[in-house]
Amino acid sequence: MSSTKYIFVTGGVTSSLGKGIISASLAKLLQARGYSVTIQKFDPYINVDPGTLNPYEHGECYVTDDGAETDLDLGHYERFLNVPTSQDNNVTTGRIYYKVITQERQGAFLGKTVQVVPHITDEIKRNFKALGENGNFDIIITEIGGCVGDIEALPFIEAVRQFKWEMGDNNVITIHLTLVPFLKSAGELKTKPTQHSVKQLSESGIQPDILVCRTEYHLSQEIRKKIALFSNVQQNCVIESIDAETIYDVPLLMKKEKLDIRVLQKLRLEEKQEPNLDSWKEFLGKLKNPTSEINIALIGKYVELKDAYKSIAESFIHAGAMNECKVNLEWIQSEKLLENVYETISEFDGVLVAPGFGERGFEGKINAVKIARENKIPFFGICLGMQCSVVEFARNVLKMDDAASTEMNPNTNYPVINMMEEQKSITQKGGTMRLGSFQCELLPNSNAAKAYGTTKINERHRHRYEFNSHFKEQFTKAGMTPTGINPESGLVEIVEVMDHPWFVGVQFHPELKSTVLNPHPLFVAFVKASLEYSKTKN
Ligand code: GLN
Repeated sequence: MSSTKYIFVTGGVTSSLGKGIISASLAKLLQARGYSVTIQKFDPYINVDPGTLNPYEHGECYVTDDGAETDLDLGHYERFLNVPTSQDNNVTTGRIYYKVITQERQGAFLGKTVQVVPHITDEIKRNFKALGENGNFDIIITEIGGCVGDIEALPFIEAVRQFKWEMGDNNVITIHLTLVPFLKSAGELKTKPTQHSVKQLSESGIQPDILVCRTEYHLSQEIRKKIALFSNVQQNCVIESIDAETIYDVPLLMKKEKLDIRVLQKLRLEEKQEPNLDSWKEFLGKLKNPTSEINIALIGKYVELKDAYKSIAESFIHAGAMNECKVNLEWIQSEKLLENVYETISEFDGVLVAPGFGERGFEGKINAVKIARENKIPFFGICLGMQCSVVEFARNVLKMDDAASTEMNPNTNYPVINMMEEQKSITQKGGTMRLGSFQCELLPNSNAAKAYGTTKINERHRHRYEFNSHFKEQFTKAGMTPTGINPESGLVEIVEVMDHPWFVGVQFHPELKSTVLNPHPLFVAFVKASLEYSKTKN
C-alpha cells in the first residue's frame, strides 16, 4: 500500500473563503518541514476544464507546463510551493463523467447499469490517488471546489467519505473551512453558521478533523470551545484564520495557529524540523517595506473582475518586492481608450497590455501601445498585448494602414498576426490552442536576454495566432526586432522595439511562472525599467 497521506479541504457557509490560499499555506508549511507535498483541485462544474469558460465566469484560466487549462487556484499552489502542477492537479465533474461515459460507450461495464455510486465515485477516487501513484509525494492536499450542501458537489463529498473509510483515519483527514461572521448590531462573533455547516458535512458522513474559521476578529478560547463542542472537533483543532494584509502572510498565520502540527498529529507523521521560512520572510520584509513606488497601467477588457488577471497581479507583487518597490496597478478598460488616450496613459510609469481574445477593446489596446512607444514609457505586452504591439507598429511606423490580426479582421491587407498553420484545421474548442511549455531562444543583448540572464528559456503558451513571419524583415529594418524565436518551429515569441528603453512583447504568458521565491525575470525587469523611467520623469 502506498504511504502517501491525504488531506481534503472542504468549504462551508459561503464561497470565496479562500480554500485555495489555506491549502497552499498548509502545503507550504509541510513542505518547509521537509515533506514533499502537492495540491489538487476538484471542481464540481460540468465543463471538462475551465478552458472554455469566459474569465467573467471563473476568473483566469491557468495553464500548466504540460498544457492543461486549469483553475486559477493552481496558480496559488505554484506561487506558494514553487513546484509545477500538471493536468492531474485539476479535475472537474465534466472530466469524470466524460471518462465514465466514454468507457460505457466502449462497453467497459459489461451490461451493468452505470450509476453515480459506484461508477462516478470510483472514478473520482481513482483521480484522488492518481498523483500519489508514482510515490513522489508524502502528502496530497485535495481542495474540493464549491460548498458542502451544493447539489453538484455531492458525488465528490461522497467519494471523500468512501475514501476515508477505505484508507483509514490515520491516512486521510478532512479540514473544513468555514466563516465566523461578526454581527455589528450584536457586537459579537457568531458560531451558528459554522455549527450548521459542520452538521451538513456530518450528514454526508464526514466528520471534519480540523476546522479553519475565517474571521475578522480573533477567536477567543471561549468561542473555540463552543465551536469544538458543537462540532465534535478538538478545541486545539479549531483554527483561526484572521483576515490578512496579504495572502502571503497566511502561511505564517497558520504556523502560529499550529495548523501544520495538528495535521501531522492526525496523520501520525513526525514533525521533522521547524518550518524553514527564511526566504519567505525575507520576501515579506521587502514587500512590506518598499523604498519606492510606481504606477502601472494595466490595459485589458476584463478589468471589472480582478480574478481575470490574477497571475499578472501576483507577478507584480513578486517583482515589486524584488525591487523593493510598491507597484500600484491601475486597471483600465481598453474599450474606453478611444479618446483622450494620451491624457489617460502618459501619466503612468509603465504600461502593460494584457492577454485576451476577440475584437472587443482591441483598438483601445492599440492606442495605448502607441502612447507607450512614442513617449518611451516602458511597455510590456503579453500574448494579445504583444500582438497589439505588432499591429500598432505596422500601422503607425510601417504605414500599413489596415494592418490587423486576422482574429479581428480576416480581410486585412496586412495580416501581420495570423492564425498558426496547425490551428487552421481545428474546429473543436476545448484544449486545442497551442498550449503549455515551449522552448525559446533569445537574441543576446536584447532586453529579454538581459532580464533572463540566459538565451535559452521555456515559457507557457495559450494562443491560436502568431506573428506572421512573412513580415519579419520589414519589421526588423524599421526597428521592431524579433528577439525570441522557437528553435523548432521558428515562431516569433518575443518582439522588442530597439530604440526604446524597454518595449517588450511576448507571445507566451510569463505571469504563469512567477513565484514568491522565483519572481519572473521579465516582470522584475519591467518594474525596474518603470522605476528608472519614473525617476527620470521627475
Ligand atoms: N487571441 C490571441 C490568440 O489566440 C491571444 C491569446 C491570448 O492573449 N492568450 O492568439
